[in-house]
Amino acid sequence: MKVAVYSAKQYDQDGFSRWADTSLQFQYLDTRLTADSVKLAAGCHAICVFVNDELNEQVLRQLSELGIEMVALRCAGFNNVDIAAAKELGIRIARVPAYSPEAVAEHTVGMILCLNRKLHKAYNRVRDDNFALDGLLGFNLFGKTVGLIGTGRIGLATARILRGFGCELLCHDTTLSNTILELGGRYVPLADLYAQSDIISLHCPLTPDTRHMINHYSIGSMKDGVMLINTSRGALIDTKAVISGLKNRKIGYLGLDVYEQEADLFFENLSDQMIDDDIFQRLLTFPNVLITGHQAFFTKEALQEISQITSDNLLAFASNTETGNELVN
Ligand code: NAD
Repeated sequence: MKVAVYSAKQYDQDGFSRWADTSLQFQYLDTRLTADSVKLAAGCHAICVFVNDELNEQVLRQLSELGIEMVALRCAGFNNVDIAAAKELGIRIARVPAYSPEAVAEHTVGMILCLNRKLHKAYNRVRDDNFALDGLLGFNLFGKTVGLIGTGRIGLATARILRGFGCELLCHDTTLSNTILELGGRYVPLADLYAQSDIISLHCPLTPDTRHMINHYSIGSMKDGVMLINTSRGALIDTKAVISGLKNRKIGYLGLDVYEQEADLFFENLSDQMIDDDIFQRLLTFPNVLITGHQAFFTKEALQEISQITSDNLLAFASNTETGNELVN
């Protein structure tokens, strides 16, 4: 079966060459899937995509006209897919629901520690033979209250680590997790989580309900100097509102691994180009903002799982069976 792999990087190729069954023929494309790049999949039976590939109704219709019958997402989130359109067109969609929640949880906690203890500044200072501690003052995580929005796989893995630090956990989710309760976490209304948390970390999916849940109003109800971490999806946050929150000192620390307009930036080396996104550029001017380019998932173990499960999803389609990872059968 021929598979066009969009947004393909060397590490994707390495993963598939190591794990994939030889009956899958991968055609690697370094371009992102948009209405303009659909035609590159001509002659293939399936495509494989990542977080910033566009699978809106127009693109899905074009794919259907090309004879594409299956889309294999090599990620967990599927906010970039018009599921209803795929169903109507009879295009099968499968994802990798859980490849390594710990990878994202560990990066989340890494961001908390870096922002708190100002490791990003200390690294540069020491290299400049500046061993002064002024401006590097942190706080103990022990005893602090962390608000987790979304306690699924990644939220739970984050909760486990933070309990090890001795943090109190306030949680919010549409479904309660017994494991969270056994860890000592408490489910509270969002308003209470916002009002009482020293650190707030987002682990829910991007849906119409959660889009811009972090906005002027919710930021206003948070503690002064709150630390806000987003390793989930960029559009959970209204970035302009967060910039106002940083400017008026309401937000004391901001850690982002995802960004609303990341599709135009992330996963590419743009170091010799002008970045036109003024909002992103403004974020980079704050000393208490740490941004990573959607790398929370990026561990050896996660890549191995992604390539293996994606291959299984494609092989199941080829043999007319299912893996249980299908969003549309
Ligand atoms: P999951 O499905 O296991 O958990 C998501 C949780 O969010 C569920 O418990 C769900 O009930 C809850 N939820 C849904 N709507 C909610 C709402 N309105 N308010 C509060 N909670 C709500 O997913 P996961 O594997 O834990 O992944 C979480 C998110 O992390 C994904 O949606 C994805 O966008 C993101 N992610 C990011 C990276 C990265 O590299 N940065 C990697 C993987 C996943």
